[in-house]
Amino acid sequence: MSDAVLRTAGLSKRFGGHAAVSDVDLAVRRGEIHCLIGPNGAGKSTLFKLIVGTHEATAGRIEFLGRDVTASRPYERVRLGMSIKMQAPSVFKELPVLQNLHTALQRHLHGAALAREAERLLDLLDLRADARKPAGALAHGQQQWLEIGMAMALQPTLLLMDEPTAGLSPEETFRTGELIQRLNADGTTVLVVEHDMAFIRQIAQRVTVLHFGKVFSEGGIADVIADPRVAEIYLGKTQHVH
Ligand code: ADP
Ligand code: MG
Repeated sequence: MSDAVLRTAGLSKRFGGHAAVSDVDLAVRRGEIHCLIGPNGAGKSTLFKLIVGTHEATAGRIEFLGRDVTASRPYERVRLGMSIKMQAPSVFKELPVLQNLHTALQRHLHGAALAREAERLLDLLDLRADARKPAGALAHGQQQWLEIGMAMALQPTLLLMDEPTAGLSPEETFRTGELIQRLNADGTTVLVVEHDMAFIRQIAQRVTVLHFGKVFSEGGIADVIADPRVAEIYLGKTQHVH
């Protein structure tokens, strides 16, 4: 699988005696939107944190763009081309939307190039009309989009998101899906941890299903959705509130 941007092998994380993630082999192919799904408590967020480097693996290996990043710090992974949109928005609420984008862009760009890219992102995020508002005055969904835009400002090879639709209305969720599809069409590979099945159906190209910390199944979205065993674990008794 030489076209994998990200690959894990035997990746595991234990918390004391509890195996939150067990022996996970995952491959995210260049150019795809890959969704990591599963019931609450399946280990999705733990796997996400292993990939971005905020958790240290108990065992196994993580390769990004062919390099072993298993022991790399999060910022080193970002420098190699990962960009992360965390679960809770962390925009600068008192700063205008445009300034938020500038803050993220000034790591790479200056002057006219920075201004041009900020304008491009404003359009992409559909936030042009709100460019001068403080980010804190935006609707929750718009703040999530701004946060996605700030992650995109790093021009990542791989954009990683943990439940980007948490707390969003169905309409905002759908528009988030459209935004992710636009970013993907521009060449960004996307890995999304998600629980919402309608959203997964909207955006996913390939899916990995986690259950009790292990890979339960993996494949094209149509096959995974058609698998009655997946519906069973989703609707089954294993769900509980985070
Ligand atoms: P998901 O994101 O799929 O809902 P998580 O990765 O958050 O699942 O959690 C997987 C399991 O690991 C759960 O049983 C959870 O209680 C446990 N867990 C997650 N984080 C920690 C932690 N920091 N310390 C101890 N147990 C944890
Ligand atoms: Mg989670």
